[in-house]
Amino acid sequence: MSASLILNDPTLLQTNAFIDGVFTAAPNGKTFAVRNPANGEIIAEVADCGADDIARAIDAADTARHSWAATTAKERSAILRKWNDLCLENIDDLAAILTAEMGKPLAEAKGEILYGTSFIDWFAEEARRVTGDVLESPFPDKKFIVLKQPIGVFGAITPWNFPNAMITRKVSPGIAAGCTCVLKPAEQTPLSALALAELARRAGFPKGVINIVTGMDAPAMGETLCADERVRKITFTGSTEVGRILMRQSADTIKKISLELGGNAPLIVFDDADLTEAVEGAIASKYRNAGQTCVCANRMFVQSGIHDKFVAALAEKVAEMKVGDGFEEGVVQGPIIDQQGFDKIERHIADATAKGGVVVTGGKPHEKGGTFYQPTVLTGATRDMQLFSEETFGPVAALFKFDKEEDAIAAANDTIFGLAAYFFTKDVSRIFRVSEALEYGMVVSNTGAYSSEVGPFGGVKASGLGREGSKYGIDEFMEIKLMVIGGV
Ligand code: ADP
Repeated sequence: MSASLILNDPTLLQTNAFIDGVFTAAPNGKTFAVRNPANGEIIAEVADCGADDIARAIDAADTARHSWAATTAKERSAILRKWNDLCLENIDDLAAILTAEMGKPLAEAKGEILYGTSFIDWFAEEARRVTGDVLESPFPDKKFIVLKQPIGVFGAITPWNFPNAMITRKVSPGIAAGCTCVLKPAEQTPLSALALAELARRAGFPKGVINIVTGMDAPAMGETLCADERVRKITFTGSTEVGRILMRQSADTIKKISLELGGNAPLIVFDDADLTEAVEGAIASKYRNAGQTCVCANRMFVQSGIHDKFVAALAEKVAEMKVGDGFEEGVVQGPIIDQQGFDKIERHIADATAKGGVVVTGGKPHEKGGTFYQPTVLTGATRDMQLFSEETFGPVAALFKFDKEEDAIAAANDTIFGLAAYFFTKDVSRIFRVSEALEYGMVVSNTGAYSSEVGPFGGVKASGLGREGSKYGIDEFMEIKLMVIGGV
């Protein structure tokens, strides 16, 4: 264990996969190193499981599914609530593990644990609000009833940028619905997943209900999940490219699928915006998690009348942002997750500046070295730049100047993606007009932060399928069954 990671409860640092209620090493004893992106230190060696272990976990989930589905919603709710309480009791440790393995500032990590538990809490309640229907029968001697039933075993694959919340957002509704699961966390952040498994064990979930399998061979593990007939649903958050693979692989067994994929979010600032609100919203949306979220604003369209004032105010705030190790006091931006992520940022900046973009602040690797990058504001962005069509996934605000509302909307919609979109204006009719015109799953005005368990989270077009959280989230894990009774 890394010397820098000191936990109140060291038993939360689990390093083996959680299969059928037991923490188990990979059969051949293979492990992989989990590193702290702030300093490259190895935090722990974790079980490097593979396709066979996924298959074992599916066996366990399949064995558990009938008895779990037969529990009452109230019983499931009580265990979920226990899990929620244990997460909150251990928030400091969960946040420390999260910061150590992915680098986000500790305060942000705590925010993520609260966000993560909000889904457990919410679905503990939603479990008890699943209702079927009694229909008006078209026949005098037949009754028509609609049942909602758990879909069965589901496979979940999660990313590194929200190592806690992306797990609870998928597992809680599924478990609440009466399903059992096999989850593969991102290889960069297995420790947050295993800490959640340990707390789930303590909460009293029966064995096999939640299985978490760690490992480096994501393609083989994903393939096994997709190919198995017993897995009736796949839920995935990650890149559009991997989403396509999973969808293709699920075709043979006709699985239900939920995908939360790339974003390329626009953020539009109209002349009639409140400048302070727009700058604060832009910072909240852009620089959270060092720009490494799929709802981070990737393209900022700023109307010509407010453009220069907005640039000056944004650049001033961004230049003050403290970059460093997430455990350091006052740090608001940690390292980029890995070299690959860092290289993409450099590539986007080089491409943009070669095509006429102007760096107002930042634009270079941070003097701290490693994968730290300067918070950046770049003006003069144009549609031929890579950062127009691809997510930078880093702390780079790219500003495009525009004159007319319709031009900003057309540019904002000119992407294969459609996850989150933001805009700032104080004109109420424009709020309705623009909200309706933006082809996104989530359209947000006059704020940069909106995620919560209450709102349906998800995208359109290449940003995905299905919605997570909210009153709609549990339906993704249920089948609708028509029950007809004749001769009555
Ligand atoms: P990112 O670029 O954010 O790492 P990915 O889509 O590559 O996004 O990763 C998200 C999750 O998908 C991780 O858990 C990763 O291990 C997993 N993954 C990557 N490739 C595949 C694949 N071919 N099949 C299944 N899962 C995969």
